[in-house]
Amino acid sequence: MSNSYQGRYCGVCDHELSHGFFSLTKRSQTVTGSEPGVVLVSDDNVLTDFCGQECANYAEVAISSTLTSPYPAADVTVPCSLCLRPVDRTAPHVSVAMMQFEDASEPWLVSARVVHERELAVYCRSCAEPRSTSNAFDDSELGVAV
Ligand SMILES: [Zn+2]
Ligand SMILES: [Zn+2]
Repeated sequence: MSNSYQGRYCGVCDHELSHGFFSLTKRSQTVTGSEPGVVLVSDDNVLTDFCGQECANYAEVAISSTLTSPYPAADVTVPCSLCLRPVDRTAPHVSVAMMQFEDASEPWLVSARVVHERELAVYCRSCAEPRSTSNAFDDSELGVAV
């Protein structure tokens, strides 16, 4: 039986992923003003996978140490994690998050569900250009239902 983590390896320790795994994702998103918390994702990219909490933490510390202002607040306007310029979340912007997945594959469907998500960084337009169309990422190829 195939599953969502088959053939994927940890970016830190090189072990094969198992039932519960983590992925660092970069996406272009827009927070809609009408309903708080609703996020439109126009582009989604998995950067690296991790086999477990320990390796995900290791990578998280390494990434946040390179940022000027990691772990942005949930406010509408937050400082860019690199240059501290204001980022308007209601306009398209790039966000990097650590996602925790749990495999939810069935014999007829390869999928995984998101258990936990933690935003590590948001970027202003001059630090990272948001993309409006999804072309680099193929859900069916990865088998992750988001
Ligand atoms: Zn690992
Ligand atoms: Zn910036």
